[in-house]
Amino acid sequence: MSEQNQICAFINCNIIDGKFENELIKEGIIVVENSNGIGKIKCLGNKDEVSIPENCKIVDLKGKYVLPGLINAHAHLFGNGNPFITGEVKRTPDENLEFMKSSLGKYLLKQGMKKNAMAALHAGVTTFRSVGDPFYYDIEVRNEIKNSGEIGPDMLCAGPMICITGGHGYKFVSEASDSPWEGRKKVRARIYNGTDLIKIASTGGVTDSKRIGEAGRVQMTYDEIAAICDEAHRAGYLVASHCQSTRGLKEALRAGVDTIEHGASMDDEIIQLFKHNPKSLRGYSALIPTFAAAVYVSEISTEYTKLDNVQLTNGRIIRDKMTEGFKTAVKEGIRVGLGTDAAMPFVTHYGTWRELHLQVKYGGISNAQAISCATKSNSEILGIDSEVGTLEPGKFADFIVLQGNPLENLNYFENPSMVVKKGNIIKSTQDYIIPEVEKFIKDI
Ligand SMILES: [Zn+2]
Repeated sequence: MSEQNQICAFINCNIIDGKFENELIKEGIIVVENSNGIGKIKCLGNKDEVSIPENCKIVDLKGKYVLPGLINAHAHLFGNGNPFITGEVKRTPDENLEFMKSSLGKYLLKQGMKKNAMAALHAGVTTFRSVGDPFYYDIEVRNEIKNSGEIGPDMLCAGPMICITGGHGYKFVSEASDSPWEGRKKVRARIYNGTDLIKIASTGGVTDSKRIGEAGRVQMTYDEIAAICDEAHRAGYLVASHCQSTRGLKEALRAGVDTIEHGASMDDEIIQLFKHNPKSLRGYSALIPTFAAAVYVSEISTEYTKLDNVQLTNGRIIRDKMTEGFKTAVKEGIRVGLGTDAAMPFVTHYGTWRELHLQVKYGGISNAQAISCATKSNSEILGIDSEVGTLEPGKFADFIVLQGNPLENLNYFENPSMVVKKGNIIKSTQDYIIPEVEKFIKDI
């Protein structure tokens, strides 16, 4: 039997299958069947229930803990989270746009994007969504990794966001649309260009705000959001909206968005719309909170985040309102996932696990609930739960191997012993760690 079509048994491990019906399968075995480099779980369970097939490769995990690969539902590939990059050239938005379009600019940007995708994978993020990157470079990076034969993470890409003229991400990671029909055209262009979802900015954001209160200010109108959702849903695409105020949430949910990114405080109508949203693609909407971005810019000095005082004040408002919204969502049984906003200051791609810690610290949930947000719940919200999100027969063999039990201590995520992507073992590396960033965030 060739390497390509091999059966492999991961033995002697504690399995957290991610379904959370049973806490832990002790002395577990996971049998993975590889076909043309793609490994799926054939069976798993306690050693008394699962027999190891003959002539299969054995990987002895020596009592370590195995759980589903993490899914980051909100990341951007254009940055690695390091605000200390020196020698940065100051450019106007137009000059920046031109540079990113130039062959040198495109080459450098895409190199960095690819590195960020691999940094995520090496840290156990086996799937992520890129929700707003310049032009369609994320699509190109996704396709290039896929075609190279290199083992990469699965990427769901939105291409550039859609915003209003001057709105969030304008002239950087968003293209402007100022009417319902322009919005429909932008959706059609994204589908034509190979995106996996549609990302809009229906309210303002922190990092490009110029006035206090601008992050969360309603930008797109109801009619514009509704047209975009209708067009996307007709083609079966989900719509994710950057949304950071109560009014923004209400308008976006009424118009049919499928995921609210970041979030804010909720009233009864918003709670009901999350649970039952007639204009959404699947009849409900979900929340993707991103604590890391809001918490780091709120707690680290502006000397290092390079934000101004307006942005700092907005960051703190957003952090507090998002925390409130998160707690309401958990209490009310709204579907909640997990994102990080990687690329924002101090938010690294390899540090996705820290978001679980922040959900526990700020949101008051358990380690198990945070793990569930990052795995099972995210897979359902993203519509990929038939393939990933839990460890079950028939799903991809995407998992992380940790030294200790993450249900007791999330810090075990910091140095995974092994990451397995579609049955392929990824060698652990510290190459992506940015020490000057770690120094600031390790105690937050
Ligand atoms: Zn974002």
